Amino acid sequence: MTTMPEAAVPNAASQNGDILLEVKNLKMYFPVGSGFLSRKPVGYVKAVDDISFTVKRGETLGLVGESGCGKTTTGRCILQLYKPTAGQIIFDGQDLTQLNTKRMRAMRREMQVIFQDPYSSLNPRMTAGNIIGEPLIVHGLVKGKQEYREKVADLLQNVGLNPYMADRFPHEFSGGQRQRIGVARALSVSPKFIVADEPVSALDVSIQAQIINLLEDLQEQFNLTYLFIAHDLSVVRHISDRVGVMYLGHMVEMSDRNEIYRNPIHPYTKALLSAVPIPDPVLDAQRDRVLLTGEVPSPLNPPSGCVFHPRCPVASDNCSAVLPELREVEPEHYAACILATGYGNY
Ligand code: SF4
Repeated sequence: MTTMPEAAVPNAASQNGDILLEVKNLKMYFPVGSGFLSRKPVGYVKAVDDISFTVKRGETLGLVGESGCGKTTTGRCILQLYKPTAGQIIFDGQDLTQLNTKRMRAMRREMQVIFQDPYSSLNPRMTAGNIIGEPLIVHGLVKGKQEYREKVADLLQNVGLNPYMADRFPHEFSGGQRQRIGVARALSVSPKFIVADEPVSALDVSIQAQIINLLEDLQEQFNLTYLFIAHDLSVVRHISDRVGVMYLGHMVEMSDRNEIYRNPIHPYTKALLSAVPIPDPVLDAQRDRVLLTGEVPSPLNPPSGCVFHPRCPVASDNCSAVLPELREVEPEHYAACILATGYGNY
């Protein structure tokens, strides 16, 4: 199999000094054993396979793809909840993969997460106030009860909840309110960076917009940087400055959000976009649909060459032999497809 020469790193730090996060050649392979007693791996699930990207301070990078594409694993590797198999996670100038436990603990304050499911991510036996306030105590950010209560009240107000709700338990809140508690908890330690892992997927559509608007307001107020993970392209469009599309552990396209919606290059992005409903029924009926056949292949045994080739509607013989790297096809618009990158005659 041929691999294309040297891939591009979208918005590489060398071109822009205002980079908060740089992910370089990240790989996350999970070993798979042969049986209950055997510890020897017989294979590896390649959940993330050599991806590179950057996130600028104050921006939101949307990461999209079908379930199992590696987007959540990428978020967890960045937060060092998983130890990456290979690659670097450079956050604010420090490679997190090289930090010892003590320094990583201090760094955790800078990076927080908002989980998908507001029903299971909150401890049902703790009050909302204690859920939000716990990180303040863990990180020693308050002196005394009075300051603790005031901070918790401020945080509740920041996310649109009334301070008197601090003594309530999670089951007394609606889904949207619970997600607000999750947001307040993430905010409590004044982070620079938040991984929002499908934060609205479990919510009603009407509530989704409220949470997204809240996240946007908080970003402006506290100068936050987001990695916003979602499987729904219509959700990321609203909140993201740039969008990265993942497929089977690979980054297949990345660009400014308007550009990627106006001018998708990779056949997988085109297929995802053609599935997004358009409110105007006339326009919706006129547009070309790209229908994908088959299931996403197993990351335990990914296809050769371009991992998308078994489902790609425009695949050629070269596609199973060549692994396309992410390349700048148009200014600040990156794609990994041999048709777009000019290697179609390999
Ligand atoms: Fe399709 Fe080939 Fe491009 Fe992969 S490299 S997206 S299979 S055309």
